Amino acid sequence: MDLDLVFLGTSGSVPTAKRGLAGTLLRRGGERILVDCGEGTQRQLLRSSVGLVELPEIFLTHYHADHYLGLPGMLKTFALRGREVPLTVYGPPGLKDLFGILRRVFGRLSYELTLVELGPGDGVGRADYRIEAFGVEHGVSANGYALFEEARPGRFDLEAAKSLGVPEGPLFGRLQAGESVPLPDGTSVSSEQVLGPPRAGRKVVFAGDTRAAGSVLEAARDADVLVHEATFSVEEQARADETLHATATTAAELAKAAGVRLLALTHLSNRYFGPEIVREARSIFPETVVPRDFDIIDVRFPERGGPRLLKGGALGRHEEGEPHDKDGSGDPGERPRGGGGDPDDPALRGDPVGARVGRRDASDGAR
Ligand SMILES: [Zn+2]
Ligand SMILES: [Zn+2]
Repeated sequence: MDLDLVFLGTSGSVPTAKRGLAGTLLRRGGERILVDCGEGTQRQLLRSSVGLVELPEIFLTHYHADHYLGLPGMLKTFALRGREVPLTVYGPPGLKDLFGILRRVFGRLSYELTLVELGPGDGVGRADYRIEAFGVEHGVSANGYALFEEARPGRFDLEAAKSLGVPEGPLFGRLQAGESVPLPDGTSVSSEQVLGPPRAGRKVVFAGDTRAAGSVLEAARDADVLVHEATFSVEEQARADETLHATATTAAELAKAAGVRLLALTHLSNRYFGPEIVREARSIFPETVVPRDFDIIDVRFPERGGPRLLKGGALGRHEEGEPHDKDGSGDPGERPRGGGGDPDDPALRGDPVGARVGRRDASDGAR
């Protein structure tokens, strides 16, 4: 099962020319889950190899403007396209109040919108994974989110199966699925006899905006990937304390204590470019990356090499430069060059708007 993270926006508080505001797309098999939706997120999706797919679920970490202002515009775009697929937005308490205001911005929708408020420990369970909210320390109603996969069956021991007299064929599959199977000689073989110990599923943790907090450390323990903010460098520790943000140093110390495999730092203040943040963090926790917009982290199983950063992995396959349509409605008539969008996305079928495939100021990231 493929699992990856597409970084759509990696700047904190204000965008820069190179970095958009918070937005990360989690892809697992054919599922698509967006975490945060800062201003510009829909365009980042359009510019990426993913396309503006009909996301069924969006998780918001908190209601500072740099994490949700992209949502009304995206919801409106979906309505203009005549979307019918229902959409659920999850967030910490305050979500319904926020939408009381936002509804006046996006107006009527063509699809069902459900709002679900989650507190620490609340979660959403699926067949083989769960997403759970946990508390963070950012001075406002805010959640982090952890995705846990169920443990996987152990490795199938082919030699053991053969030596027990299991004939090659469908019985192997049943044993792998945990069943006991009868043999022609009247005896039976149980799955425990041919499977190794269960193997852990993967765990991906989004801390959202927070100072380095004990609750995040607990949630992140042994995670394959921890996505943590590093709004500041250690030189700005006082400012980080004041605004309840993390520094590269405190985030790296937390990742080290939690024993994560890979730390991905994001939400950089616009005073930083990235290399200084990654250097600072790696001096404490070497397995750190600072993704740029359109980078991907491929969360491979440990036996396949573990998580890795794919630089520019979601950059559009084609340069921008789209055919004109006369009224700008997005009604294609002709399909945009670069076509298709994310081929794994079941919601994309029939979607006319697929993938299109292309100094600093004084503000300092205090949100
Ligand atoms: Zn923020
Ligand atoms: Zn914030």
